[in-house]
Amino acid sequence: MKIIKNIADMQKISNSHRAKGETIAVVPTMGYLHYGHLSLVKHAKDFGNVVIMTLFVNPTQFGPNEDFNRYPRDFERDRALAEEAGVDYLFNPEVYEMYAHDFSTTLNISGITQKFEGEFRPTHFDGVALIVTKLFNATLPDFAIFGQKDYQQTLVIKQLTRDLNYHVKLIVAPTVREADGLAMSSRNKFLNSEEREVSSIIFLALEDARKAIESGTRDRKVINGIMHNRLRSVQAIRIDYASAADANTLEQPNIFYAGDRVVLLIAVYLGKTRLIDNSLVSVPTTNRFINFGEESKK
Ligand code: AMP
Repeated sequence: MKIIKNIADMQKISNSHRAKGETIAVVPTMGYLHYGHLSLVKHAKDFGNVVIMTLFVNPTQFGPNEDFNRYPRDFERDRALAEEAGVDYLFNPEVYEMYAHDFSTTLNISGITQKFEGEFRPTHFDGVALIVTKLFNATLPDFAIFGQKDYQQTLVIKQLTRDLNYHVKLIVAPTVREADGLAMSSRNKFLNSEEREVSSIIFLALEDARKAIESGTRDRKVINGIMHNRLRSVQAIRIDYASAADANTLEQPNIFYAGDRVVLLIAVYLGKTRLIDNSLVSVPTTNRFINFGEESKK
């Protein structure tokens, strides 16, 4: 595995692989790797002949009071894990390589970025859009692999690639979880042992809501209430949001209908650590009431 520190070298390498007819898959990360990241590398290997992992803690996606300085970093450990997973190139630029002292460009995607995470982290997706654009321009990929763990981010990046005409195929890989259901995250390291013990409540809340939808619950407020109730059983949790939404648009209708794809989205603080998770559910078509409703619409 080669470590690449600058953009021009990265572009040259990608172009030379493309000239040989090879395809490139990129896995963008902020490092402090866990099995969730490594599962993305596995997917990348299924799609591209060459796998680039990017490792860059991007300052522009952190708000002024967020944990940029505190974000966990361990380059040597990441290097070893990436190599073992079969990454061909680890693109690991310094901040000044990505953002020159006179860097002046901003990117803003409207609509989908304003909801959920956007309400609590108003500049977050501007930073994500900017860095993903810059990483695409540096690595010139055919495929880019992202985790469902950051569900809203996948929608934002889909919008970005459409809007800016990138010929990059986006692959969304499923969330990898600990045995008790907690979604793997670099930030889990911040949980103390009591917090870690109760943290599976997030997954349990998602599961409660999923089961409710699958057994006929259609009312969004009822579904949200199910998640809130479960989360509130842990005192140390502060809820930013726990809501069901349309999986494509993140709109929040009062009632979901048969065949709708619903995403359940949760963001909470557990002590000082902010955790997000989600689950995708299809509203079943077998419910008698809904079938009746569908008939009556005709
Ligand atoms: P991060 O380093 O947290 O920015 O994450 C880099 C990529 O890994 C993103 O596409 C995330 O969605 C993805 N990712 C993070 N955690 C997981 C997980 N538990 N399972 C699958 N993918 C993940």
